[in-house]
Amino acid sequence: MRLTGNLWQATRSLRFRLALSYVLFFTICMLVIGGFFRWTLQGIIQGEVDDALEEEWGAAKGYLQVVAYGPDWFYDAYDPEESFIVSRLQRVFLLTDANGKPVMRSPVYDAIGVDSPTEIRSILQSGKPMLRTKYDNGEPYRIRSGKWVDKNQVFYMAVGKSMAEDEHILGRFTRDYFLMLPAVLLLGSVFGWYVAGRALDPLNSVSRTAQRITSSNLNTQIRPRGAGDELDHLIETFNAMMDRLNRSFEQIRQFSTDVSHELRTPLTVIRGQLEVALFTAKTPEQYREAMENALEEVERLSSIVRALLLLSQSETGQLVLQKTGVDLAETVRDIVDQFQIPAEGQGVELTSQTPDHCVAPADRIQFERLVSNLLSNAVKYTPAGGKVKVTLASLPEQVRLVVEDTGAGIAAEHVPHIFERFYRVPSAEPEKGLGLGLSFVAWIVKAHGGTIHVDSEVGVGTRFTVTLPAGENGTRRLASEAAEREVAP
Ligand code: ATP
Ligand code: MG
Repeated sequence: MRLTGNLWQATRSLRFRLALSYVLFFTICMLVIGGFFRWTLQGIIQGEVDDALEEEWGAAKGYLQVVAYGPDWFYDAYDPEESFIVSRLQRVFLLTDANGKPVMRSPVYDAIGVDSPTEIRSILQSGKPMLRTKYDNGEPYRIRSGKWVDKNQVFYMAVGKSMAEDEHILGRFTRDYFLMLPAVLLLGSVFGWYVAGRALDPLNSVSRTAQRITSSNLNTQIRPRGAGDELDHLIETFNAMMDRLNRSFEQIRQFSTDVSHELRTPLTVIRGQLEVALFTAKTPEQYREAMENALEEVERLSSIVRALLLLSQSETGQLVLQKTGVDLAETVRDIVDQFQIPAEGQGVELTSQTPDHCVAPADRIQFERLVSNLLSNAVKYTPAGGKVKVTLASLPEQVRLVVEDTGAGIAAEHVPHIFERFYRVPSAEPEKGLGLGLSFVAWIVKAHGGTIHVDSEVGVGTRFTVTLPAGENGTRRLASEAAEREVAP
């Protein structure tokens, strides 16, 4: 059972199929070549026999003469060569009158079958010689027949030659060739199997390596053979894929480490505060303060969890954008208004510059989240006396949002990382942030098909420039839609 299973498996293998197609192709080639050679050989042999017959026909004409009692052979009986030629001519020979009545015939010709008078008459009428192959018990005879005229008398003459010897040569060739064929095919199969095995070896090595890969050795690479062929290309593709997998796995690992780290800090604080409440607090004020501190950290914890949930939803594609024609100008003005009070509280001057309307396809909630994240950063990282400015501009086919501040700025080495989750620029005064805001911003911009760009100088300020596509028909058509909506009850 197991053996037949293995056998079946082997016949399904690429190696077997490659070797089989090679052998099949080889067999067909050998058969075609053998057939072609046999056909050519037969043609050559027949051509030679026909030439010899032509000569014999000429000789027969030379030795035959019509005399008073009819046609007869005339030659020097004492000349062994002439006697030999004539006796050979007489071996397969037929001579009839114009009506097909035999005048001379050899026993062999009798055995082959004397030509019918109709046949003879038609050959005589055409006046052209005829070449045919006739058989006596399977033995082939080549016959050359035609008209012979002597002393005004017309005869039908046929000279023949056995082709048994030639047939034998052809037969031997065919037999030897086809006997040799299985041996050649066997050799061909062994060679085909070996070559297919060698060609597929790298594939097996890829599959063996792939089997060995687990999450702990994702950095495994297969060494290219340096042949520069399709298999090397496959190996390179495989290695590149492993590289990508390894990197994203690394990111996930890093993310889990970051998350546990982020969750541990507030948890430690909560624990500390609860311990204070339990063991050291004496007065109601002290209890209250410990509880308030614990509550603050619980809030921080919930906001981390909320943000993580949203992030993971956005990254796994569960958070789908609900794009409608949104008046971005109005949205920006609303959010700027909301930030006026905290900005004032921090002594930061917050201004905005927007067109009256700027409608583009966007998810309103996500766009609001984008603007408020950028604004909260700008206000948060700008010291008192600084300025924050928000500008929205409608360009052809694009909308541009710029949030700039005169705040702390970001050092060049940190800029490439600020969109990473939990990344916060290390600073002397630890800010209360999760380091998740810009990850969101980046996702929202990407989901809208836009781009984001940062220019920053430490101590001078930071500028975030977001460009979003304005949709297929630009902002105008959508502007009229927005107007209609405003009129609608
Ligand atoms: P969260 O937004 O999650 O509450 P966060 O503001 O610290 O926390 P991000 O918004 O992702 O996190 O910003 C990442 C880091 O980039 C910030 O910690 C800050 O160091 C830096 N950064 C962002 N915006 C500015 C800015 N306008 N000026 C100076 N630094 C900035
Ligand atoms: Mg932020």
